[in-house]
Amino acid sequence: MLAALWPANAILSAILVRNRQLDRLLVWLAAAVAYVGADIITGSSVVVSLLLAVANLSGVMVAVVLLRRLPNEDKSLLRPLSIRYLCVIGFFSSATSGAIGAVASVLFFGSEPVMGFLFWASAEFANFVVILPFALTVSLRAHVLRDVIMMWRGAPSAWEKIKPYAPVLGVILSLLLVQFVGGPGAIVFPVPALLWCALVYPLQVTAFIIFLVSQSLIYVLEFNLVYNLPTNMDAYWAVVSTRLGIALLAIGPLTVASINAARTVLLSQLDHAAHHDFLTGLLSRRAFVNQGNELVVRLAAEQHNLCVVLIDIDHFKQINDNHGHAAGDIVLAEVADILRRHVQEHDLIGRLGGEEFALLLPYVSLQEAEHIAQEIRNAVAGASISGIGNKADARFRITISAGIVCRKMTPFSNLDHLILEADRLMYEAKRAGRNRVLTS
Ligand code: GH3
Ligand code: MG
Ligand code: MG
Repeated sequence: MLAALWPANAILSAILVRNRQLDRLLVWLAAAVAYVGADIITGSSVVVSLLLAVANLSGVMVAVVLLRRLPNEDKSLLRPLSIRYLCVIGFFSSATSGAIGAVASVLFFGSEPVMGFLFWASAEFANFVVILPFALTVSLRAHVLRDVIMMWRGAPSAWEKIKPYAPVLGVILSLLLVQFVGGPGAIVFPVPALLWCALVYPLQVTAFIIFLVSQSLIYVLEFNLVYNLPTNMDAYWAVVSTRLGIALLAIGPLTVASINAARTVLLSQLDHAAHHDFLTGLLSRRAFVNQGNELVVRLAAEQHNLCVVLIDIDHFKQINDNHGHAAGDIVLAEVADILRRHVQEHDLIGRLGGEEFALLLPYVSLQEAEHIAQEIRNAVAGASISGIGNKADARFRITISAGIVCRKMTPFSNLDHLILEADRLMYEAKRAGRNRVLTS
């Protein structure tokens, strides 16, 4: 009956799939020694232990070979149908170890072949379905704990503090119902709370909760069954049925968690695309203005300085005309890289349009902003850019013109006015001969 709590095969499979460098003969031998050793310690003979280890390891081997063939998104359960693949792989893996395990059951434990197979395979399948999702996605990072503590501390009210744990409380409550109400329907009592978890928590957390709940269900339902009906052969059928029930029950919330995780990834990609310029990766005009306005409000409250730097590439049209539009695109990306290298994390960089960029530099003086702009101008002027296609050998240089405005922020400060003023200075720099920085 201990085999009902047998996470070893699923965990070993996940370890070998996640760390390719561990898939070596030595590691497999070490695993075999561990399986055999554990069995001998708990009282099996050497022959029995060896046969059981072969059964376990062959299931792991099938799982590892098949899991490797899955795309990475499916291994991270980031697609709606990822769980389906895990179930299919779990089926083949558990059938393999079940078939070999049945031989051991018949030879050494006096089982009937079909029941020996079903008993072993159903336990394996249940373990795969509930443990593998967790073992494949779990990541042990200190920041998770820190995030939880920060969330607890940052919550403005007692209700806000407890709210994130409500789904977990629901799960605990449902398990209490399983224990104290019982009956044939008990197995699905945790489903609503698990679905709630799947909608609220990150995938790994949901997978972990499902793992714990499944193990609890195995403990409560399966062991109760066996203890209540010890002499009846039907008890074994009931155990097989319960195990399959627990495994199949986990699939629903896991699928919801996968869909939710995939949706979160998609939303963050969309969010990034909506706020960033595709070519340069800088903030788009709208995002730049929105974030800039928020910055102005913050700086006004702190009564700090803000410098606006407007930058325009000189004679950019000629670059397009002489070297092609694609070379022009490379120039834009190159200038964006130079800008990124010269600012700090709290600064904002936007591509306002075409070949025009803007920087918002908080907390710096006009002199410091001018120094930064001159360094950028020098870096751009010093960069040698290669053409592409049939003009790949031709290297060329570019220059920029910039205008800078710095003000102490007040509640009446207006970012649009500052940008207009910097723009005017930038055009003056153009008229004065380009490749220069003008300040107000
Ligand atoms: P000035 O020194 O006065 O700024 O001259 P300029 O040629 O840089 O300015 P102008 O405004 O005449 O030309 C800007 C050119 O930038 C015209 C347009 O085709 C080109 N452009 C705008 N967006 C892109 C882009 O995304 N990629 C490329 N390759 N060119 C672009
Ligand atoms: Mg220009
Ligand atoms: Mg321009």
